[in-house]
Amino acid sequence: MNVNFNSRRVLAFVCVMMLSVTCNRVTNAMQDLQPLLKPTKPQKSTATLSVDTSGNYSVENSEDESNANQQDKKKIVFISGSPSHGMMKHEHRAGNMILADALNRSGLAVDAKLVPHYGYPRDESILKGAATVVIFCTGHQGHVLNPHLEEFDKLMKSGTGVVMIHWATEAVKGKPGKKFLEWMGGFCELDWSVNPHWTPNFKEFPNHPISNGVKPFRANDEWYYHMRFVNNMKGVTPILSDLPGPETLRRRDGPRSGNPAVRKAVAAGEKQVVAWAYDRPSGGRGFGFTGAHNHESWRDENFRKVVLNAILWTANVYVPKEGCPSPKVSDSRIKENLDNQKSSKNKNAR
Ligand SMILES: [Zn+2]
Repeated sequence: MNVNFNSRRVLAFVCVMMLSVTCNRVTNAMQDLQPLLKPTKPQKSTATLSVDTSGNYSVENSEDESNANQQDKKKIVFISGSPSHGMMKHEHRAGNMILADALNRSGLAVDAKLVPHYGYPRDESILKGAATVVIFCTGHQGHVLNPHLEEFDKLMKSGTGVVMIHWATEAVKGKPGKKFLEWMGGFCELDWSVNPHWTPNFKEFPNHPISNGVKPFRANDEWYYHMRFVNNMKGVTPILSDLPGPETLRRRDGPRSGNPAVRKAVAAGEKQVVAWAYDRPSGGRGFGFTGAHNHESWRDENFRKVVLNAILWTANVYVPKEGCPSPKVSDSRIKENLDNQKSSKNKNAR
């Protein structure tokens, strides 16, 4: 009897110990997930823009009050190329400010920062520890990365994500194009891709975090298509696709207007990918998005959501089931922080 009683006590003790170890493991796992799951305090505003009479500007990024809070957040850096088009087109800075503002107000564990001037950061320390870098700029020979391919490649190889928007997806064939393939799986290539204005109808989306909360939408924009992708599209997940109508190829063949390969693909009914996610074989994530010629497009909630979700995904941040929230962009808000402003007094990015 005594032996049996002692055996039961030993057995009970072992069970309690095992349960305790399991609970500790679950607790530890939950703690690991906390930075991803727990919403952090949203910042009140993202940045303050000051423009002088010559059109030079500076952006003062708002600082979070608590250093501890800051350490939990993934850093997202926005690079805005200098103006390339007229008003309300290719508004690199103003577009980036809308995105950065939405991210900082999302309550998610992110800290979005704008490079405080046009172009590649003069002070590269802003890129240190970045979870992802968003680039919205002139493409091809005017791309902000052309003189910085080596240093940017090091950043990419360290696992930092990248998002390129509109013209920024266009690379010079050769070394830049090869690097773009490594970083984000695809790019806009002259004499292969085309840049018509059209209105795709995005009706279905893949099972992917970037699709979270995105509802079917249409948006008139200069959606480049027939991108150059990695072989067999290995690692590429098309996010937005549609079949362009024949009117998108009305122009004669030219570097960005048409070529035999794109005509053949469209005639064969091949849906064209205008936004895609890329898992690099070595780790790290990229995303290419060919719309956003029209600054007005940012007013479309789904258009914004795709890009915001993608920024989170490339930063390895949990994308909420309903997608990244973002404040409505009003008629007056869309006209804020535009490149043509010669002077302004502390225009708040709201
Ligand atoms: Zn454009």
